[in-house]
Amino acid sequence: MTIQLRWLHQFQFAGYYMALEKGYYKEAGLDVKLLEGGPSALNPLDELMSGRSDFAITSSGVVIDRMEGKPVQAVAAIMQTSPIVWITLKSANIQTVEDMAGKRAMLMPPPESAELLTVLRKDQYNNLNVEFQHTSFDVEDLIRGKTDAYDGYISNEPYVLTQQGIEYNLINPRDYGVNFYADVLVTRESLADRNPELVARVRDASLKGWEYALTNLEESVQVIHEKYAPEKSIDHLRFEARTLRRLILPDLVQLGHMNPARWQFIADSYRDLGMTSAVPALEGFLFEDRQPNNYWLAIKVGGISAVLLMIAGYVILKFRRLSQQLAQTNRKLSEIAIIDQLTQVHNRNGLQQLIPGMLSLANRDGMNCSFLMLDIDHFKSVNDRFGHQTGDVALQAFAEVLTRHRRKEDLVARVGGEEFVMLLVGAHIEAATQIANQILESVRQLELVSPDGGRFGITASIGLVPAKGTLEGIWYAADTALYQAKHEGRDRVVRTTGVSQAKR
Ligand code: GH3
Ligand code: MG
Ligand code: MG
Repeated sequence: MTIQLRWLHQFQFAGYYMALEKGYYKEAGLDVKLLEGGPSALNPLDELMSGRSDFAITSSGVVIDRMEGKPVQAVAAIMQTSPIVWITLKSANIQTVEDMAGKRAMLMPPPESAELLTVLRKDQYNNLNVEFQHTSFDVEDLIRGKTDAYDGYISNEPYVLTQQGIEYNLINPRDYGVNFYADVLVTRESLADRNPELVARVRDASLKGWEYALTNLEESVQVIHEKYAPEKSIDHLRFEARTLRRLILPDLVQLGHMNPARWQFIADSYRDLGMTSAVPALEGFLFEDRQPNNYWLAIKVGGISAVLLMIAGYVILKFRRLSQQLAQTNRKLSEIAIIDQLTQVHNRNGLQQLIPGMLSLANRDGMNCSFLMLDIDHFKSVNDRFGHQTGDVALQAFAEVLTRHRRKEDLVARVGGEEFVMLLVGAHIEAATQIANQILESVRQLELVSPDGGRFGITASIGLVPAKGTLEGIWYAADTALYQAKHEGRDRVVRTTGVSQAKR
Protein backbone atom coordinates (compact mmCIF):
# COMPACT_ATOMS: atom_id res chain seq x y z
CA MET A 1 0.00 0.00 0.00
CA THR A 2 1.33 3.44 -0.84
CA ILE A 3 0.04 6.83 0.22
CA GLN A 4 1.10 9.82 -1.87
CA LEU A 5 1.54 12.83 0.42
CA ARG A 6 0.58 16.29 -0.71
CA TRP A 7 3.78 18.07 0.19
CA LEU A 8 7.24 17.66 1.70
CA HIS A 9 7.51 15.75 4.96
CA GLN A 10 6.31 17.88 7.83
CA PHE A 11 3.86 17.79 10.72
CA GLN A 12 1.02 18.11 8.23
CA PHE A 13 1.22 14.31 7.80
CA ALA A 14 1.92 13.40 11.42
CA GLY A 15 -0.89 10.87 11.72
CA TYR A 16 0.50 8.72 8.94
CA TYR A 17 4.02 8.75 10.35
CA MET A 18 2.73 7.84 13.79
CA ALA A 19 0.55 5.05 12.42
CA LEU A 20 3.76 3.58 11.00
CA GLU A 21 5.80 4.34 14.09
CA LYS A 22 3.29 2.81 16.50
CA GLY A 23 2.67 -0.21 14.31
CA TYR A 24 -1.01 0.55 13.65
CA TYR A 25 -0.71 -0.32 9.96
CA LYS A 26 1.15 -3.50 10.77
CA GLU A 27 -1.47 -4.50 13.36
CA ALA A 28 -4.06 -4.10 10.62
CA GLY A 29 -2.05 -6.38 8.36
CA LEU A 30 -0.92 -3.52 6.13
CA ASP A 31 2.48 -2.77 4.68
CA VAL A 32 2.26 0.98 4.08
CA LYS A 33 4.78 3.23 2.34
CA LEU A 34 4.50 7.01 2.38
CA LEU A 35 5.56 8.86 -0.77
CA GLU A 36 6.78 12.41 -0.28
CA GLY A 37 5.33 15.26 -2.32
CA GLY A 38 6.82 18.66 -3.12
CA PRO A 39 6.65 21.80 -5.24
CA SER A 40 7.99 20.26 -8.41
CA ALA A 41 6.17 17.01 -7.80
CA LEU A 42 3.51 15.47 -9.15
CA ASN A 43 -0.04 16.07 -8.52
CA PRO A 44 -1.06 13.54 -5.85
CA LEU A 45 -4.28 12.78 -7.68
CA ASP A 46 -2.41 11.95 -10.92
CA GLU A 47 -0.24 9.56 -8.96
CA LEU A 48 -3.35 7.90 -7.60
CA MET A 49 -5.23 7.72 -10.87
CA SER A 50 -2.27 6.32 -12.76
CA GLY A 51 -1.91 3.58 -10.17
CA ARG A 52 1.49 4.72 -8.94
CA SER A 53 -0.08 5.08 -5.49
CA ASP A 54 -3.09 3.50 -3.81
CA PHE A 55 -4.09 6.46 -1.70
CA ALA A 56 -3.36 10.15 -1.87
CA ILE A 57 -3.71 13.24 0.30
CA THR A 58 -5.34 16.02 -1.71
CA SER A 59 -7.01 19.37 -1.27
CA SER A 60 -10.78 19.71 -1.25
CA GLY A 61 -10.42 20.48 -4.97
CA VAL A 62 -10.56 16.73 -5.48
CA VAL A 63 -14.30 17.18 -5.58
CA ILE A 64 -13.91 18.97 -8.93
CA ASP A 65 -12.11 15.95 -10.36
CA ARG A 66 -14.91 13.77 -9.10
CA MET A 67 -17.56 15.98 -10.70
CA GLU A 68 -15.63 15.81 -13.94
CA GLY A 69 -15.77 12.06 -13.90
CA LYS A 70 -12.57 10.88 -12.24
CA PRO A 71 -13.32 7.70 -10.30
CA VAL A 72 -12.00 8.92 -6.96
CA GLN A 73 -13.51 8.52 -3.51
CA ALA A 74 -12.96 10.60 -0.39
CA VAL A 75 -12.12 8.40 2.59
CA ALA A 76 -11.48 10.92 5.38
CA ALA A 77 -10.99 14.67 5.77
CA ILE A 78 -8.19 15.34 8.21
CA MET A 79 -8.37 19.11 8.44
CA GLN A 80 -11.82 20.39 9.12
CA THR A 81 -10.68 23.76 7.93
CA SER A 82 -7.96 24.68 5.48
CA PRO A 83 -4.62 26.20 6.52
CA ILE A 84 -4.23 28.36 3.40
CA VAL A 85 -3.99 32.11 4.06
CA TRP A 86 -2.55 35.23 2.53
CA ILE A 87 0.34 36.67 4.45
CA THR A 88 1.17 40.36 4.17
CA LEU A 89 3.82 42.48 5.83
CA LYS A 90 2.60 44.59 8.70
CA SER A 91 4.53 47.52 7.26
CA ALA A 92 2.43 47.32 4.07
CA ASN A 93 -0.75 47.79 6.09
CA ILE A 94 -2.81 45.27 4.16
CA GLN A 95 -5.11 43.80 6.76
CA THR A 96 -8.28 42.87 4.96
CA VAL A 97 -9.36 41.74 1.55
CA GLU A 98 -10.47 45.29 0.75
CA ASP A 99 -6.92 46.45 1.39
CA MET A 100 -5.73 44.16 -1.40
CA ALA A 101 -7.27 46.36 -4.08
CA GLY A 102 -4.75 46.92 -6.87
CA LYS A 103 -2.07 44.88 -5.09
CA ARG A 104 -0.10 41.87 -6.23
CA ALA A 105 -1.06 38.52 -4.75
CA MET A 106 0.47 35.11 -5.24
CA LEU A 107 -1.64 32.07 -5.92
CA MET A 108 -1.10 28.42 -6.60
CA PRO A 109 -2.91 27.11 -9.65
CA PRO A 110 -6.48 26.03 -8.93
CA PRO A 111 -7.80 24.06 -7.21
CA GLU A 112 -5.09 24.58 -4.58
CA SER A 113 -5.92 28.27 -4.47
CA ALA A 114 -9.67 27.75 -4.34
CA GLU A 115 -10.35 29.14 -0.86
CA LEU A 116 -8.45 32.33 -1.58
CA LEU A 117 -10.15 32.80 -4.94
CA THR A 118 -13.54 32.18 -3.40
CA VAL A 119 -12.97 35.07 -1.02
CA LEU A 120 -11.98 37.39 -3.85
CA ARG A 121 -14.94 36.46 -6.00
CA LYS A 122 -17.43 37.13 -3.25
CA ASP A 123 -19.82 39.84 -4.39
CA GLN A 124 -18.43 42.65 -2.35
CA TYR A 125 -14.84 41.97 -3.45
CA ASN A 126 -15.41 41.40 -7.11
CA ASN A 127 -13.80 44.57 -8.40
CA LEU A 128 -10.63 44.85 -6.43
CA ASN A 129 -8.34 44.41 -9.45
CA VAL A 130 -5.89 42.22 -7.66
CA GLU A 131 -2.88 41.37 -9.81
CA PHE A 132 -2.26 37.63 -9.60
CA GLN A 133 1.20 36.13 -9.67
CA HIS A 134 2.11 32.49 -9.81
CA THR A 135 3.29 31.46 -6.38
CA SER A 136 7.03 31.20 -5.96
CA PHE A 137 6.80 28.86 -2.95
CA ASP A 138 9.29 31.18 -1.29
CA VAL A 139 8.15 33.54 1.44
CA GLU A 140 11.41 35.48 1.04
CA ASP A 141 9.75 37.04 -2.01
CA LEU A 142 7.32 38.75 0.33
CA ILE A 143 10.17 40.16 2.36
CA ARG A 144 12.01 41.26 -0.81
CA GLY A 145 8.90 43.08 -2.00
CA LYS A 146 8.27 40.90 -5.04
CA THR A 147 4.66 40.48 -3.97
CA ASP A 148 2.21 42.13 -1.59
CA ALA A 149 0.33 39.05 -0.47
CA TYR A 150 1.99 35.67 -0.23
CA ASP A 151 -0.16 32.53 -0.28
CA GLY A 152 1.05 30.29 2.49
CA TYR A 153 0.10 27.95 5.24
CA ILE A 154 -0.93 29.43 8.57
CA SER A 155 1.11 26.65 10.15
CA ASN A 156 4.33 27.35 8.31
CA GLU A 157 5.45 30.74 6.99
CA PRO A 158 4.33 32.79 10.02
CA TYR A 159 6.95 30.87 11.96
CA VAL A 160 9.67 31.74 9.47
CA LEU A 161 8.73 35.43 9.58
CA THR A 162 8.59 35.55 13.37
CA GLN A 163 12.04 33.96 13.50
CA GLN A 164 13.37 36.84 11.42
CA GLY A 165 11.58 39.38 13.59
CA ILE A 166 9.26 40.39 10.76
CA GLU A 167 5.73 41.42 11.66
CA TYR A 168 2.94 40.22 9.45
CA ASN A 169 -0.84 40.14 8.98
CA LEU A 170 -2.92 37.15 7.98
CA ILE A 171 -5.86 37.34 5.63
CA ASN A 172 -7.73 34.20 6.47
CA PRO A 173 -10.55 32.85 4.26
CA ARG A 174 -12.28 31.61 7.39
CA ASP A 175 -12.83 35.19 8.51
CA TYR A 176 -14.78 35.69 5.29
CA GLY A 177 -16.98 32.68 5.73
CA VAL A 178 -15.00 30.41 3.39
CA ASN A 179 -14.28 27.19 5.15
CA PHE A 180 -13.25 24.13 3.13
CA TYR A 181 -11.84 20.77 4.14
CA ALA A 182 -8.16 20.19 3.57
CA ASP A 183 -5.88 17.19 3.44
CA VAL A 184 -8.43 14.71 2.30
CA LEU A 185 -7.43 11.05 2.17
CA VAL A 186 -8.69 9.68 -1.14
CA THR A 187 -8.51 6.41 -3.06
CA ARG A 188 -9.54 4.98 -6.42
CA GLU A 189 -13.15 3.98 -6.71
CA SER A 190 -12.12 0.64 -8.16
CA LEU A 191 -10.08 -0.17 -5.07
CA ALA A 192 -12.93 0.90 -2.78
CA ASP A 193 -15.38 -1.23 -4.73
CA ARG A 194 -13.18 -4.27 -4.91
CA ASN A 195 -11.86 -4.15 -1.40
CA PRO A 196 -13.81 -1.83 0.87
CA GLU A 197 -12.62 -3.68 3.90
CA LEU A 198 -9.00 -2.93 3.03
CA VAL A 199 -9.77 0.75 2.49
CA ALA A 200 -11.53 0.84 5.85
CA ARG A 201 -8.47 -0.71 7.49
CA VAL A 202 -6.15 1.91 5.98
CA ARG A 203 -8.53 4.64 7.08
CA ASP A 204 -8.93 3.35 10.62
CA ALA A 205 -5.21 2.77 11.17
CA SER A 206 -4.42 6.23 9.76
CA LEU A 207 -6.99 7.88 12.03
CA LYS A 208 -5.58 5.96 14.97
CA GLY A 209 -2.20 7.39 14.03
CA TRP A 210 -3.70 10.88 13.97
CA GLU A 211 -5.32 10.34 17.34
CA TYR A 212 -1.93 9.38 18.72
CA ALA A 213 -0.11 12.24 17.04
CA LEU A 214 -2.54 14.85 18.32
CA THR A 215 -2.47 13.62 21.89
CA ASN A 216 1.31 13.23 21.84
CA LEU A 217 2.44 16.32 19.97
CA GLU A 218 5.90 16.45 21.45
CA GLU A 219 6.76 12.82 20.75
CA SER A 220 5.44 13.14 17.20
CA VAL A 221 7.48 16.26 16.61
CA GLN A 222 10.62 14.40 17.70
CA VAL A 223 9.87 11.44 15.44
CA ILE A 224 9.22 13.69 12.44
CA HIS A 225 12.38 15.68 13.07
CA GLU A 226 14.52 12.56 13.41
CA LYS A 227 13.09 10.44 10.65
CA TYR A 228 11.37 12.62 8.09
CA ALA A 229 12.12 16.32 8.18
CA PRO A 230 15.53 16.91 9.78
CA GLU A 231 15.80 20.29 8.01
CA LYS A 232 12.82 21.62 9.93
CA SER A 233 13.80 22.63 13.45
CA ILE A 234 12.05 21.08 16.44
CA ASP A 235 10.70 24.50 17.28
CA HIS A 236 9.30 25.01 13.79
CA LEU A 237 7.63 21.60 13.89
CA ARG A 238 6.17 22.41 17.30
CA PHE A 239 4.65 25.58 15.90
CA GLU A 240 3.23 23.65 12.98
CA ALA A 241 1.85 20.98 15.30
CA ARG A 242 0.03 23.42 17.54
CA THR A 243 -1.40 25.39 14.62
CA LEU A 244 -2.57 22.37 12.68
CA ARG A 245 -4.12 20.79 15.76
CA ARG A 246 -6.44 23.75 15.85
CA LEU A 247 -7.46 23.20 12.24
CA ILE A 248 -8.10 19.52 12.77
CA LEU A 249 -10.43 20.37 15.67
CA PRO A 250 -10.01 16.97 17.34
CA ASP A 251 -11.83 18.11 20.48
CA LEU A 252 -14.92 19.07 18.56
CA VAL A 253 -15.17 16.92 15.49
CA GLN A 254 -14.59 13.21 15.20
CA LEU A 255 -11.27 12.70 13.43
CA GLY A 256 -11.64 12.33 9.69
CA HIS A 257 -15.31 13.27 9.73
CA MET A 258 -16.94 14.34 6.46
CA ASN A 259 -20.34 15.91 6.20
CA PRO A 260 -22.11 15.33 2.86
CA ALA A 261 -23.85 18.71 3.06
CA ARG A 262 -20.53 20.44 3.60
CA TRP A 263 -19.04 18.66 0.57
CA GLN A 264 -22.03 19.76 -1.44
CA PHE A 265 -21.42 23.33 -0.39
CA ILE A 266 -17.76 23.07 -1.39
CA ALA A 267 -18.73 21.57 -4.76
CA ASP A 268 -21.27 24.34 -5.35
CA SER A 269 -18.66 26.97 -4.49
CA TYR A 270 -16.22 25.57 -7.05
CA ARG A 271 -18.91 25.64 -9.67
CA ASP A 272 -19.90 29.19 -8.78
CA LEU A 273 -16.24 30.14 -9.15
CA GLY A 274 -16.27 28.79 -12.66
CA MET A 275 -13.64 26.17 -11.85
CA THR A 276 -15.86 23.53 -13.35
CA SER A 277 -19.06 23.47 -15.29
CA ALA A 278 -19.87 19.94 -14.21
CA VAL A 279 -23.02 19.32 -12.24
CA PRO A 280 -22.19 19.05 -8.56
CA ALA A 281 -23.62 15.57 -8.16
CA LEU A 282 -21.80 13.74 -5.43
CA GLU A 283 -23.41 10.31 -5.12
CA GLY A 284 -20.78 7.73 -4.45
CA PHE A 285 -18.05 10.28 -3.75
CA LEU A 286 -17.80 9.53 -0.04
CA PHE A 287 -16.35 6.18 0.89
CA GLU A 288 -18.44 4.29 3.35
CA ASP A 289 -18.00 0.88 4.81
CA ARG A 290 -19.78 -1.72 2.82
CA GLN A 291 -18.62 -4.73 4.70
CA PRO A 292 -20.64 -7.83 3.92
CA ASN A 293 -20.46 -8.78 7.61
CA ASN A 294 -22.64 -5.85 8.50
CA TYR A 295 -25.63 -7.60 7.09
CA TRP A 296 -25.17 -10.62 9.30
CA LEU A 297 -24.32 -8.45 12.21
CA ALA A 298 -27.56 -6.55 11.71
CA ILE A 299 -29.54 -9.78 11.75
CA LYS A 300 -27.71 -10.92 14.84
CA VAL A 301 -28.22 -7.64 16.65
CA GLY A 302 -31.81 -7.58 15.46
CA GLY A 303 -32.34 -11.08 16.80
CA ILE A 304 -30.77 -10.31 20.13
CA SER A 305 -32.84 -7.14 20.42
CA ALA A 306 -36.00 -9.09 19.71
CA VAL A 307 -35.17 -11.56 22.44
CA LEU A 308 -34.32 -8.73 24.80
CA LEU A 309 -37.57 -7.02 23.96
CA MET A 310 -39.52 -10.17 24.72
CA ILE A 311 -37.75 -10.54 28.03
CA ALA A 312 -38.30 -6.88 28.82
CA GLY A 313 -41.97 -7.21 27.90
CA TYR A 314 -42.29 -10.22 30.14
CA VAL A 315 -40.59 -8.40 32.98
CA ILE A 316 -42.79 -5.35 32.54
CA LEU A 317 -45.94 -7.38 32.53
CA LYS A 318 -44.92 -9.48 35.46
CA PHE A 319 -43.30 -6.90 37.68
CA ARG A 320 -44.66 -3.42 37.31
CA ARG A 321 -42.49 -2.08 40.03
CA LEU A 322 -39.38 -3.45 38.41
CA SER A 323 -40.31 -1.71 35.20
CA GLN A 324 -40.53 1.58 37.00
CA GLN A 325 -37.09 1.02 38.35
CA LEU A 326 -35.91 0.19 34.88
CA ALA A 327 -37.34 3.43 33.55
CA GLN A 328 -35.56 5.32 36.27
CA THR A 329 -32.29 3.62 35.41
CA ASN A 330 -32.79 4.52 31.79
CA ARG A 331 -33.33 8.14 32.66
CA LYS A 332 -30.21 8.03 34.73
CA LEU A 333 -28.32 6.44 31.84
CA SER A 334 -29.39 9.04 29.32
CA GLU A 335 -28.45 11.71 31.80
CA ILE A 336 -25.01 10.19 32.19
CA ALA A 337 -24.65 10.34 28.43
CA ILE A 338 -24.78 14.13 28.43
CA ILE A 339 -23.58 15.06 31.94
CA ASP A 340 -19.97 14.87 33.04
CA GLN A 341 -20.01 12.67 36.12
CA LEU A 342 -17.04 14.32 37.81
CA THR A 343 -18.14 17.94 37.56
CA GLN A 344 -21.87 17.62 36.88
CA VAL A 345 -21.77 20.09 33.99
CA HIS A 346 -22.56 18.98 30.46
CA ASN A 347 -20.04 16.78 28.72
CA ARG A 348 -18.98 17.05 25.10
CA ASN A 349 -21.88 14.91 24.00
CA GLY A 350 -24.30 17.20 25.82
CA LEU A 351 -22.70 20.23 24.24
CA GLN A 352 -22.98 18.72 20.78
CA GLN A 353 -26.62 17.96 21.30
CA LEU A 354 -27.57 21.34 22.70
CA ILE A 355 -25.41 23.91 21.03
CA PRO A 356 -26.56 23.73 17.38
CA GLY A 357 -30.11 24.57 18.39
CA MET A 358 -28.97 27.33 20.72
CA LEU A 359 -26.74 28.85 18.05
CA SER A 360 -29.33 28.81 15.32
CA LEU A 361 -31.87 30.40 17.65
CA ALA A 362 -29.37 33.07 18.63
CA ASN A 363 -28.30 33.68 15.02
CA ARG A 364 -31.88 33.86 13.87
CA ASP A 365 -33.03 36.32 16.47
CA GLY A 366 -29.92 38.44 16.07
CA MET A 367 -29.17 37.91 19.73
CA ASN A 368 -25.70 38.73 20.99
CA CYS A 369 -24.21 35.60 22.46
CA SER A 370 -20.65 34.98 23.50
CA PHE A 371 -18.54 31.87 23.61
CA LEU A 372 -15.81 31.19 26.16
CA MET A 373 -13.15 28.53 26.06
CA LEU A 374 -11.55 28.05 29.46
CA ASP A 375 -8.50 26.02 30.41
CA ILE A 376 -6.89 25.64 33.84
CA ASP A 377 -3.28 26.84 33.88
CA HIS A 378 -0.50 24.35 34.52
CA PHE A 379 -2.98 21.80 35.68
CA LYS A 380 -0.59 18.97 35.03
CA SER A 381 1.58 20.26 37.85
CA VAL A 382 -1.41 20.21 40.24
CA ASN A 383 -1.71 16.50 39.54
CA ASP A 384 2.04 16.01 39.74
CA ARG A 385 2.38 17.79 43.06
CA PHE A 386 -0.78 16.70 44.87
CA GLY A 387 -2.03 13.61 43.08
CA HIS A 388 -4.86 12.88 40.73
CA GLN A 389 -7.54 12.85 43.42
CA THR A 390 -6.76 16.38 44.52
CA GLY A 391 -6.70 17.29 40.84
CA ASP A 392 -10.22 15.96 40.54
CA VAL A 393 -11.37 18.07 43.48
CA ALA A 394 -9.81 21.12 41.84
CA LEU A 395 -11.73 20.33 38.65
CA GLN A 396 -14.95 20.13 40.63
CA ALA A 397 -14.25 23.44 42.35
CA PHE A 398 -13.47 25.04 39.00
CA ALA A 399 -16.68 23.76 37.44
CA GLU A 400 -18.55 25.00 40.48
CA VAL A 401 -17.21 28.52 39.83
CA LEU A 402 -18.44 28.35 36.24
CA THR A 403 -21.86 27.17 37.38
CA ARG A 404 -22.05 30.02 39.85
CA HIS A 405 -21.41 32.58 37.12
CA ARG A 406 -23.81 31.19 34.58
CA ARG A 407 -27.39 32.25 34.19
CA LYS A 408 -29.89 29.51 33.77
CA GLU A 409 -30.11 29.81 29.99
CA ASP A 410 -26.32 29.63 29.58
CA LEU A 411 -24.47 26.46 28.70
CA VAL A 412 -21.45 25.10 30.57
CA ALA A 413 -19.64 22.02 29.33
CA ARG A 414 -16.46 20.12 30.07
CA VAL A 415 -14.94 19.27 26.73
CA GLY A 416 -11.55 17.90 27.71
CA GLY A 417 -9.53 17.04 30.83
CA GLU A 418 -9.34 20.55 32.24
CA GLU A 419 -10.97 22.37 29.36
CA PHE A 420 -14.43 23.86 29.53
CA VAL A 421 -16.59 26.00 27.30
CA MET A 422 -19.46 28.34 28.08
CA LEU A 423 -22.10 29.81 25.83
CA LEU A 424 -23.42 33.02 27.36
CA VAL A 425 -26.82 33.67 25.92
CA GLY A 426 -27.76 37.28 25.29
CA ALA A 427 -24.38 38.50 26.47
CA HIS A 428 -22.67 41.03 24.25
CA ILE A 429 -18.90 40.72 24.02
CA GLU A 430 -18.45 43.58 26.52
CA ALA A 431 -20.73 41.98 29.07
CA ALA A 432 -19.08 38.63 28.45
CA THR A 433 -15.65 40.15 29.06
CA GLN A 434 -16.83 41.27 32.48
CA ILE A 435 -18.22 37.86 33.29
CA ALA A 436 -15.01 36.19 32.09
CA ASN A 437 -12.95 38.45 34.32
CA GLN A 438 -15.23 37.78 37.27
CA ILE A 439 -14.77 34.06 36.68
CA LEU A 440 -11.00 34.45 36.69
CA GLU A 441 -11.20 36.44 39.91
CA SER A 442 -13.33 33.74 41.57
CA VAL A 443 -10.89 31.09 40.39
CA ARG A 444 -7.97 33.04 41.92
CA GLN A 445 -9.84 33.11 45.21
CA LEU A 446 -10.36 29.35 45.36
CA GLU A 447 -8.61 27.83 48.34
CA LEU A 448 -7.90 24.22 47.62
CA VAL A 449 -6.58 21.76 50.15
CA SER A 450 -3.62 19.54 49.38
CA PRO A 451 -3.30 16.02 50.86
CA ASP A 452 -0.95 17.27 53.56
CA GLY A 453 -3.49 19.88 54.64
CA GLY A 454 -1.72 22.82 52.98
CA ARG A 455 -3.53 25.34 50.78
CA PHE A 456 -2.98 26.00 47.14
CA GLY A 457 -4.66 27.99 44.39
CA ILE A 458 -5.14 27.78 40.65
CA THR A 459 -5.60 30.17 37.75
CA ALA A 460 -7.14 29.76 34.34
CA SER A 461 -7.00 31.28 30.86
CA ILE A 462 -9.96 32.20 28.71
CA GLY A 463 -10.47 32.72 24.99
CA LEU A 464 -13.58 34.79 24.30
CA VAL A 465 -15.37 35.34 20.99
CA PRO A 466 -18.82 36.38 19.79
CA ALA A 467 -20.94 33.27 19.16
CA LYS A 468 -21.75 34.05 15.55
CA GLY A 469 -21.59 31.70 12.59
CA THR A 470 -20.85 28.02 12.61
CA LEU A 471 -19.78 26.08 15.65
CA GLU A 472 -16.54 25.12 13.89
CA GLY A 473 -15.72 28.75 13.19
CA ILE A 474 -16.55 29.84 16.72
CA TRP A 475 -14.59 26.98 18.21
CA TYR A 476 -11.52 27.71 16.12
CA ALA A 477 -11.60 31.41 16.97
CA ALA A 478 -12.05 30.75 20.69
CA ASP A 479 -9.30 28.15 20.70
CA THR A 480 -6.98 30.60 18.96
CA ALA A 481 -7.79 33.29 21.52
CA LEU A 482 -7.21 30.83 24.36
CA TYR A 483 -3.87 29.85 22.88
CA GLN A 484 -2.93 33.52 22.76
CA ALA A 485 -3.98 33.96 26.39
CA LYS A 486 -1.66 31.08 27.33
CA HIS A 487 1.10 32.52 25.22
CA GLU A 488 0.81 35.97 26.79
CA GLY A 489 1.34 34.56 30.28
CA ARG A 490 -1.93 32.83 31.34
CA ASP A 491 -4.42 33.95 34.03
CA ARG A 492 -6.13 36.30 31.58
CA VAL A 493 -8.90 36.75 29.05
CA VAL A 494 -8.07 37.27 25.38
CA ARG A 495 -10.96 38.23 23.20
CA THR A 496 -11.13 38.44 19.44
CA THR A 497 -13.92 39.66 17.28
CA GLY A 498 -12.51 38.32 14.01
CA VAL A 499 -12.00 40.40 10.90
CA SER A 500 -15.35 39.45 9.47
CA GLN A 501 -17.31 40.81 12.37
CA ALA A 502 -15.16 43.88 12.69
CA LYS A 503 -15.41 44.78 9.04
CA ARG A 504 -18.93 43.96 8.08
P1 GH3 B 1 -1.51 24.88 30.32
O1 GH3 B 1 -1.38 26.03 31.25
O2 GH3 B 1 -0.72 25.09 29.07
O3 GH3 B 1 -2.93 24.55 30.03
O4 GH3 B 1 -0.86 23.62 31.05
P2 GH3 B 1 -1.58 22.32 31.56
O5 GH3 B 1 -0.62 21.58 32.41
O6 GH3 B 1 -2.87 22.66 32.20
O7 GH3 B 1 -1.93 21.61 30.20
P3 GH3 B 1 -1.94 20.16 29.68
O8 GH3 B 1 -3.03 20.13 28.68
O9 GH3 B 1 -0.57 19.76 29.24
O10 GH3 B 1 -2.29 19.23 30.89
C1 GH3 B 1 -3.59 18.94 31.24
C2 GH3 B 1 -3.54 17.93 32.33
O11 GH3 B 1 -4.85 17.67 32.84
C3 GH3 B 1 -3.06 16.58 31.89
C4 GH3 B 1 -3.73 15.61 32.81
O12 GH3 B 1 -2.81 15.17 33.77
C5 GH3 B 1 -4.80 16.42 33.51
N1 GH3 B 1 -6.11 15.83 33.48
C6 GH3 B 1 -6.88 15.59 32.40
N2 GH3 B 1 -8.05 15.03 32.77
C7 GH3 B 1 -8.03 14.92 34.13
C8 GH3 B 1 -8.97 14.41 35.10
O13 GH3 B 1 -10.07 13.95 34.79
N3 GH3 B 1 -8.59 14.47 36.40
C9 GH3 B 1 -7.38 14.97 36.77
N4 GH3 B 1 -7.07 15.00 38.06
N5 GH3 B 1 -6.48 15.45 35.88
C10 GH3 B 1 -6.80 15.43 34.57
MG1 MG C 1 -4.33 23.54 31.00
MG1 MG D 1 -5.52 21.75 28.28
